[in-house]
Amino acid sequence: MAPKNTKYIVITGGVLSGLGKGIATASVGHLLSSKLKVIPIKCDGYLNTDPGTMNPIEHGEVFVLDDGGEVDMDFGHYERFLGVTCRSEWNLTMGKVYWRILERERRGDYLGKTVQLIPHVTDEIKSHFKKIAQQEKADIVLIEIGGTVGDMENELFIEAVRQLGQEVGEDNIVYIHLTYVPIPPNLGEHKTKPTQQSVKLLNERGIRPDIIIARSPKPLTQKVKEKIALFCNIPPEAVISGPDVKTVYQVPILYDQQNLTALIHKKLKIYSPPNLAKWQKLVDAILNPEREVTIAICGKYTDLHDSYASILEALTHAGAHLKTKVRVKWIETTKIEQGKITVEKALADVQGVIVPGGFGLRGIEGKIDVIQYCRQNKIPFLGICYGMQLAVIEFARNVCGLEGAHTTEAEEEGIEVKHPVICLLPSQKGLKKKGGTMRLGGQDVYIKPGTVAHKIYGADKVRERFRHRYEVNPEYVPTLEKCGLVFSGYEPQENIMQIMELPEHPFFIGVQYHPELISKLEKPEPLFYHLVEHALERV
Ligand code: GLN
Repeated sequence: MAPKNTKYIVITGGVLSGLGKGIATASVGHLLSSKLKVIPIKCDGYLNTDPGTMNPIEHGEVFVLDDGGEVDMDFGHYERFLGVTCRSEWNLTMGKVYWRILERERRGDYLGKTVQLIPHVTDEIKSHFKKIAQQEKADIVLIEIGGTVGDMENELFIEAVRQLGQEVGEDNIVYIHLTYVPIPPNLGEHKTKPTQQSVKLLNERGIRPDIIIARSPKPLTQKVKEKIALFCNIPPEAVISGPDVKTVYQVPILYDQQNLTALIHKKLKIYSPPNLAKWQKLVDAILNPEREVTIAICGKYTDLHDSYASILEALTHAGAHLKTKVRVKWIETTKIEQGKITVEKALADVQGVIVPGGFGLRGIEGKIDVIQYCRQNKIPFLGICYGMQLAVIEFARNVCGLEGAHTTEAEEEGIEVKHPVICLLPSQKGLKKKGGTMRLGGQDVYIKPGTVAHKIYGADKVRERFRHRYEVNPEYVPTLEKCGLVFSGYEPQENIMQIMELPEHPFFIGVQYHPELISKLEKPEPLFYHLVEHALERV
């Protein structure tokens, strides 16, 4: 069968990083995906194989895919906006590219040749794009290039997409450049110079953008659009305004209102009209909430909210369906440990609590104090991954009387653990390598009938995503259960406890997986929905 004629949309960035290129890419994809198969690819210039071993403070959340890939957090946007289940191959880092080239060089694939950045690296990148296009039978491949034009790191990706344009021809590729148009406070007007310079940098690399999306604090006026059009050599209708918005879910609607979809249809000779009615309704619910609730997120990366990006989105999704604004109160649990704030005070103005995933000992005794307070004061509680493990530790210590109950993760930091209620997964024993070696990705969760979890999910089995090395120690399960803790979700083959709950409590659930990773605006993950719903009862 002849390969399908895949079209490509390339999104580059300029002026600043942090403009929301991932959201812009996902929004473009959302607009085209009603009738077409749109596959996103993200290119990252760093030399790590994947972001799995990076500090979330530096890089934001590590997103985990169903296939077990640890990928850039933009994949969270792609999955939420496009409704696709992404694959780890779709995140191409320069580390992966070089790895492959060196492997091939050793194998002898380049015998007699000097292996060079051009053509070998650029060829490798292009063939990756084409392979995915073919494998997925994609109508459109959306390629987001990380960083900004002019960064040394992404030069080869930019060169590769330039060459790709040559190969596939004009009708089959659209270049979109995302820039920033500041409004300096002393001037009070849009300034287009940084955009002009950034487009010039792109032109120097042989790419003339077809469309410019200009991020700015306020919408661009027609005059500003015309100025950008004139200097950047594109028609004014191809300059799209990307003003700051209250919720990222407005972005596709804003683009469509400015005919971005039609522009792409015309250039690529395709037709896939967006279906925005349901989306619009949910956006309206986010913008005009009827009620309000505050949920605390208690962790150690609370200064960088990108570390918990998917949790924030999942709360937004739940809020949209409950017509509720979910405010988040960040609680740095090290402050509780240091006695700078009491748990009672920290939680005084919240109606629900999330203890998210995490690693290491810093801040965990504070988290355990928070969990104890939630349990005793009937505050709705959701423990995610580490949050579940710590809830088990709290229960073991304070209800089962197992003094010194802990996770063996603490042993790595020199603590002797008397009751290892959380211990290393058997499959993790003896593993030395850190990269990509956790228990990762989608797994089935079996749910016991008659439990709270069963009522919430309304199913005997659900699929959720995991990223952990430790688990509830099976040896302690009978003791914990005898004291009233219910393990309502489990993995039968390896006997891993995946959901815990306290039936006497209005809402106290811990899950070994990351429910935030599969939540969508149109379909919130049920645990977040129920957390917010229960929290509303306390307003
Ligand atoms: N540190 C814990 C583990 O490895 C929890 C991991 C997490 O929260 N993602 O099991």
